[in-house]
Amino acid sequence: MTRLTGRCAVVTGGSRGIGRAIAAALAEAGAAVAIVARGAEALEAAAAAIERDGRRVVALACDVTDPRQVADLPARMRTTLGDPDILVNNAGGADTHKLLDHPDELWERMLRLNLTSVYWVTKALLPSLVASGRGRLINVASTAAKSGARYAAAYAAAKHGVLGLTRSLALELASSAVTVNAVCPGYADTPMTAESIERIVSRSGRSADDARRALESTSPQGRLIRGEEVAALVCFLAGEAAAGITGQAINVDGGAVMT
Ligand code: NDP
Repeated sequence: MTRLTGRCAVVTGGSRGIGRAIAAALAEAGAAVAIVARGAEALEAAAAAIERDGRRVVALACDVTDPRQVADLPARMRTTLGDPDILVNNAGGADTHKLLDHPDELWERMLRLNLTSVYWVTKALLPSLVASGRGRLINVASTAAKSGARYAAAYAAAKHGVLGLTRSLALELASSAVTVNAVCPGYADTPMTAESIERIVSRSGRSADDARRALESTSPQGRLIRGEEVAALVCFLAGEAAAGITGQAINVDGGAVMT
């Protein structure tokens, strides 16, 4: 198991779903972890649940789509846990629509949440990652970063953008000790997927079980991914053994996408 004792991590979107699993796994591996999300109550509850047996977790309420709030993160880290050397950009969300009557507001919102926020948070915390001499930047993208996603053009475009940012930064930082990678989950068993199932039910009239099975069947393994499976990969990428892995986008999707 990767040991991360003495390391300090920030996980955006850490109050539920994949981000919460990542925060718990990093803390379990010995890192001090700050979780970031908008909803302060859920965030505090998640931090309290993870923080046991000497694990160190703090909750920092922040909307990652607001650059002014993001700009405060380095100072808030310094006064709570210290300067981070691991950043996991996980906050994100999907909404779907056919393109021809696609609301422009949805396009803007998907790009801001799934791509521009990654740029802002990275820009704010990268100096600390570089200064640490062992920085790890890990972006939670999606299989929708590598292939199209029907009715989700804005989300898929944003996630494709995350890979462009990941690969470009990996090159830019290759002469430093910072590695930059993406993980690409397939449909995962999280509140975001529960929302997708509700959307399918309300738009198609299918039952919730049918809708869930349709998402499961996108994976050759015929199942949803667990947040813990994504978290295990993130922990490995954060560790010393992964020092030579950079600019990669690794799928955790039961074999759905093979590029
Ligand atoms: P969830 O909806 O379950 O959790 C999203 C997290 O992000 C919450 O903690 C939420 O808290 C936070 N968040 C949302 N908006 C903001 C914001 N503006 N500022 C700060 N935090 C925010 O999502 P998942 O765990 O399912 O997804 C996590 C990541 O994984 C996303 O990037 C998603 O695109 C990606 N992914 C998910 C897949 C899936 O099937 N679920 C598949 C592939 C990729 P709050 O609302 O309180 O801010």
